[in-house]
Amino acid sequence: MGIPEKQWAQVIEPDNSLVYKQIPVPKPGPDEVLVNIKYSGVCHTDLHARNGDWPLDRKLPLIGGHEGAGVVVAKGSLVGDEVNVGENVGVKWLNGSCLACEFCQKGDEPLCAHAELSGYTVDGTFQQYCVAKAAHVSKIPKGVALDAVAPILCAGITVYKGLKESGARPGQSVAIVGAGGGLGALAQQYAKAMGLRVIAIDGGDEKKALCEQLGAEAYVDFTKSKDLVHDVQAATSDGLGPHAVILVAVSELPFQQAASYVRSRGTIVAIGLPANAYLKAPVFGTVVRMINIKGSYVGNRQDGVEALDFYARGLIKCPFKTVPLSDLPKVYELMEQGKIAGRYVVEIPQ
Ligand code: NAD
Ligand code: ZN
Ligand code: ZN
Repeated sequence: MGIPEKQWAQVIEPDNSLVYKQIPVPKPGPDEVLVNIKYSGVCHTDLHARNGDWPLDRKLPLIGGHEGAGVVVAKGSLVGDEVNVGENVGVKWLNGSCLACEFCQKGDEPLCAHAELSGYTVDGTFQQYCVAKAAHVSKIPKGVALDAVAPILCAGITVYKGLKESGARPGQSVAIVGAGGGLGALAQQYAKAMGLRVIAIDGGDEKKALCEQLGAEAYVDFTKSKDLVHDVQAATSDGLGPHAVILVAVSELPFQQAASYVRSRGTIVAIGLPANAYLKAPVFGTVVRMINIKGSYVGNRQDGVEALDFYARGLIKCPFKTVPLSDLPKVYELMEQGKIAGRYVVEIPQ
């Protein structure tokens, strides 16, 4: 089957409306591949891009999406045997980077000043055919289902990296804040696979049921708890609080609470990106309890290889719901209301 001239896409127009329409199929540049996207996860970052609520300029008109799983259908003249037509690959948030700056050379490609971001500074995966830099696509092993693996390409890689950044060791406890969302659900699975004990924090009974199913040892409901700091500390076996906190929530308050319940010498890893939000911690307590507070931003290419390898080995099992690409606005509506337990994946028409 040849590559068509036209394709279906969800386009954010310059007036910020989201329109499902036919547009031309893009052509890959010399160092790029063209990927026929089969499925794409819907990350809360796509909603930030749709709402334009971050202090970072986005391309407009814009096609969102950065958890795309599909098949390479064409490649540019400079792409060698490292990626071939017919192979299954993933298109991630980091669509490309310069590969030559200090950050790229040291394996911190997400920090590259010339990084291109899928579904933000370049068109993403909510279309049938997407362009990505050959050096940055992730190889998806044969036999791995493209719908289930899609959320690994952002949510999975990001939380895997964040857990490594936390320094938590097997047997230690980690609080996952926003545990019932897309990143949170996968964070629970990676944490368990890494030998960590999970305290899940989120709101509502549907998310409670999901967290229990995913193996959390405790669930603290932020909508019901009268003393969240006490409840989180009490959920650890010795009452001293979690060794690490992974913040993947989409509101500001948890970013200001974590320093109160993390264990002394513990680490807080900020990953969620609520608009206009600030981290807060008392200087005295942070100093005398030797608390470490840091950010973590997606992952490099090797983090992608490792996160996909955990998945391919059957260690990461996460429920997801699939809807057609045309239903993307409904997914955004549910996401805005905080009603999504786990991840939605959109099926791209073929
Ligand atoms: P999501 O909507 O699926 O999940 C967010 C969860 O946070 C929801 O379950 C919600 O109920 C929960 N929540 C809201 N307020 C809370 C509170 N006070 N306490 C506990 N839980 C609370 O979103 P997602 O796709 O998992 O993304 C989460 C955030 O991570 C977004 O801001 C996204 O942009 C960001 N993100 C960051 C990176 C990175 O590299 N740092 C990568 C991907 C996504
Ligand atoms: Zn994402
Ligand atoms: Zn660079």
